[in-house]
Amino acid sequence: MGNTQRLKNKVAVITGAGSGIGRTTALLFGKEGADLCIVDKEMENLNGVAKDIRDLGRKVIPLKVDVRQSSDIKMMVEETVNEFGRIDILLNNAGIVIRKDIDGTSEEEWNDMLDIDLSGIFRCIKYVLPHMKRAKKGKIISISSIAAHICYGYPAYSAAKAGILGLTHSLVGELASFGIAINAVSPGVIETPINAETLSDPQIRQKTINLIPLGRLGKTEDIAKAALFLACEDSDFITGQTLIVDGGMSSVIQFGETAKVIGTFHEKGDSTN
Ligand code: NAD
Repeated sequence: MGNTQRLKNKVAVITGAGSGIGRTTALLFGKEGADLCIVDKEMENLNGVAKDIRDLGRKVIPLKVDVRQSSDIKMMVEETVNEFGRIDILLNNAGIVIRKDIDGTSEEEWNDMLDIDLSGIFRCIKYVLPHMKRAKKGKIISISSIAAHICYGYPAYSAAKAGILGLTHSLVGELASFGIAINAVSPGVIETPINAETLSDPQIRQKTINLIPLGRLGKTEDIAKAALFLACEDSDFITGQTLIVDGGMSSVIQFGETAKVIGTFHEKGDSTN
């Protein structure tokens, strides 16, 4: 990916940055000139990501943050503002998936799903916003999913991801008066640790590819580039939108087809990550 310094002098916070889409986006934002606060509930990979960003010549703060905990998020915001003076970009990326149908989903799993993938984003936005409002600028991007748009077979996951879109739309008016843009990205099937076990089954892998008009699974770079567009000045007149990055999958899907293929995922017992 190129280095065009589209985020020069910007400060970005990225949740779930230790792996997959978050990791690749953190590295791309660093290449594009941003200083970063990268957070994850697991520190295991985060220090490696931080080292790679420092090697690019950027400043970075890696922090152990669980998006379920308001205290962690307040600390994330405080540390970033103390170090860099502001937050220009918030990328809400941390998430899990529960691959279960309605009968198989317990109330506890439902609550966990919403707590991490939806309420976690509410908390991050809530505590970052005062700083963006004071600066009268900012870009907020949240990672939803095509599961918010089509029949996917995992009700808790789809509900959380659709909730992100409602939250995004609901804030457009209020934030616009402060010069803040808020958008979402809905990835299709992207190869990351979240679905590695599932996609290691050659049959499921091929059936999934067959559902994608562009003929391949998504790469983390596909989502990182979409997030970069929404984070940089190229998208300054765009707010309240969802960029679906799925190789065309959601456009051509027959009702129920995705659920039939993707829905077999949980048969492997790969229920959470
Ligand atoms: P991933 O598992 O590689 O990365 C998710 C990261 O989020 C992990 O590092 C994990 O530790 C972190 N995380 C999980 N719970 C957390 C919590 N409570 N607090 C802080 N961090 C937490 O998976 P990924 O595919 O890169 O997923 C990134 C986002 O993209 C998720 O929101 C996911 O739902 C979404 N998404 C992924 C796909 C896909 O096909 N991979 C498709 C649509 C949407």
